[in-house]
Amino acid sequence: MIKETIDCDILIIGAGLTGLTIAYQLRNAGFSVKVAEARSRIGGRIETIKTEAGEKVEMGATWLGRKHTYLTRLLAELNIATFEQIIGDTAIYEAISTSPHYLARIPPNPEPSLRISGGTEVLIQRLSSHISSEDIFLDAKVDSIKRDNNKTVTDCIHTIFKSKIVISTLPPNLLVTSINFENQLPQDLISIARNTHTWMGESIKIALTYPTPFWRQEHLSGTIMSNVGPVPEMYDHSNVEDNKYALMGFLNGGYFQLTKEERLAIIMKQLKKYFGEFAETFTSYEEKIWRTETDTFTSYESNVLPHQNNGHDLYQESYLKDSLMMAGTETSTYYPGYMEGAVYSGLLTSQKVIKRLSV
Ligand SMILES: Cc1cc2nc3c(=O)[nH]c(=O)nc-3n(C[C@H](O)[C@H](O)[C@H](O)COP(=O)(O)OP(=O)(O)OC[C@H]3O[C@@H](n4cnc5c(N)ncnc54)[C@H](O)[C@@H]3O)c2cc1C
Repeated sequence: MIKETIDCDILIIGAGLTGLTIAYQLRNAGFSVKVAEARSRIGGRIETIKTEAGEKVEMGATWLGRKHTYLTRLLAELNIATFEQIIGDTAIYEAISTSPHYLARIPPNPEPSLRISGGTEVLIQRLSSHISSEDIFLDAKVDSIKRDNNKTVTDCIHTIFKSKIVISTLPPNLLVTSINFENQLPQDLISIARNTHTWMGESIKIALTYPTPFWRQEHLSGTIMSNVGPVPEMYDHSNVEDNKYALMGFLNGGYFQLTKEERLAIIMKQLKKYFGEFAETFTSYEEKIWRTETDTFTSYESNVLPHQNNGHDLYQESYLKDSLMMAGTETSTYYPGYMEGAVYSGLLTSQKVIKRLSV
């Protein structure tokens, strides 16, 4: 197959929150950019899915707080509203397997968790609406990057990009294991990246939709905290209009090897303990096993701790004769791992690019 060659000033790898924030900022500053995205959708670790009955459930990022000032400012600029996560004043709490669960009082939270009205995907859609769809290349998984004369050559399945600057927004561990740099990356960067945690990479998100919010009765709120599991946390996930109802939470990541049916069975067992037969009245069950998403997660060289090496000094440098920049939430020195870290990284990186290309 003959590949198309595209010459451009700036290539961004990844159309997640970081990549789209950079593209949005650079477009606003009058630069033209191209974005290469491996998946057939944009958003990366932001994925809002719609069930057949029309409920939207978050399989990726969901919550933010007012302390996330860069994200909050971006949402305001894009005219995107938020609403408070329903927590209630009591949670179903299960401390140990040998004692029954009970209702625990939740103290008032001066910093409530917020959700994005219409789903987190609204942020992704709004950012991408400012970028021409012709500049976002889907199904464009980058295989190799090398510096050749005065251009950086980025090769993906159907296209070769030749650019002055290339910006990676991949989790660093994924970057150095899945892209061939023809030995042009320094060994110390590779070692740090191989041991950099990818936030939520091992997680399992689950959601059940229901015709009624039966859990909002007799001091119940849908909030579940369990040390026993297999679901350690669950929350009311109804929409802002409060006419589509769901419960959403996490399943212990160790259950990735079970079948979907087996996972649902153990979740039901736990929920029936709390809600009785009501638990079985769900209209759909959705799940996402992030560790099997090869465009997000790859295993580490050795065990890493949450946030290990996030925001490392080496990610603030550029490589391949100053043409490769590292961005993405794991490279951020501020709230790494979170959407706030992705936006901060996006803003900082675009400022660096503007400075570099304006001289
Ligand atoms: C289950 C889960 C729950 C979360 N909950 C929250 C939350 O409640 N609040 C919060 O603030 N954050 C949360 N997060 C984290 C949040 O999703 C991330 O911080 C943010 O989305 C990261 O954006 P990013 O652009 O830096 O990375 P990503 O979203 O990972 O984007 C990287 C992009 O690069 C693409 N890519 C990968 N390889 C290649 C390649 N070779 N070529 C081209 N493209 C490639 C990927 O497909 C992806 O689109 C959660 C994440 C998960 C998974």
